Amino acid sequence: MPFRDVIGHRKLVALLSRSIERDTIPPSLIFAGPAGVGKRLVALAAAQTLNCLDLRRQQSPTADTLEYDACGVCRACTRIERGLHPDVVVIEPGDTGVIKTDAVRDVIERAGYRPFEGRKRVVIIDEADTLWPNAQNALLKTLEEPTSSSVFILVSARADSLLLTVQSRCLRLRFHELGPEDVATVLIRRGVDDTKAHAIAALANGSLGAMEEENAEELVAARDDALRLLTRFASTPDLGRRVEAAAEDLLLPASAKATPAEQREHLAVRLRAIGSFLRDVELVAAKGDRRTLANPDKEESLGRLAAFSGDRGIHAFEAVDAALVAIRANAGVKIVADWVATQI
Ligand SMILES: [Zn+2]
Repeated sequence: MPFRDVIGHRKLVALLSRSIERDTIPPSLIFAGPAGVGKRLVALAAAQTLNCLDLRRQQSPTADTLEYDACGVCRACTRIERGLHPDVVVIEPGDTGVIKTDAVRDVIERAGYRPFEGRKRVVIIDEADTLWPNAQNALLKTLEEPTSSSVFILVSARADSLLLTVQSRCLRLRFHELGPEDVATVLIRRGVDDTKAHAIAALANGSLGAMEEENAEELVAARDDALRLLTRFASTPDLGRRVEAAAEDLLLPASAKATPAEQREHLAVRLRAIGSFLRDVELVAAKGDRRTLANPDKEESLGRLAAFSGDRGIHAFEAVDAALVAIRANAGVKIVADWVATQI
């Protein structure tokens, strides 16, 4: 996937593109940041741009600048995409969950030689924090004496746990979480339908790796339940009816015969959805950047929740947090739902 198709991370992509064009890309890089936001994809896009046979200048999707980019279709690009290019190596932990010294020995030995057929050898070490300390030490010498023929990219969601000596040899690029709109775009591109994509995006906390697509139906339902309950809460001061509404919208019916763990999970995902709506209401009230809404597809409904802006919203958000803590501590779901009805 060339740079232009990467979703989000525009500043980092532009920076990489420029440094490749000017041949100033550092020989050792760490791509740090949360799991599942596309760090490895960006590393592969850089490998393509470094080795593409038909480089082009592309209009950047978000700015009026021209970016140096891979074509995505030449022999080099397709082989990198399929993991078959002799000069682009991806190393990742095996079944044992660690990367042993053997796995890096080969790339260390080859680092000093010219690439076989490309312009640059690119070594991408995914989940680099799983490198066995011995392997990190073996790699260190190569990182300390870089050659112009190779680029090492260490990809990690826990970059701080790499040996300090390794960290200090690499330039660190920090990836941030994707906005909900970006997460939804990625999912829609993968074939997830719009409604599910937005539900997942709202509850994925900006990281695709953190969520499971097979739960999409459940997330759609959770978000609908949360929105219904908040709308009812906004118009019903009567405590008895609120308690009833909370039981209906937050709890599984007894007929579902769910285990206590399933009941807690059902409630927790609805509370998280409530939290994401409360946050959006606050964002709209504060006239914040609408692109950062967790539920951009439900923007019209947010108007009906205006009662939750300000102090009431803050209190409600704290109540949701406290309820989630209680669920993690195995509190009974009915007790938690009742309490939520009194607090939101
Ligand atoms: Zn190409």
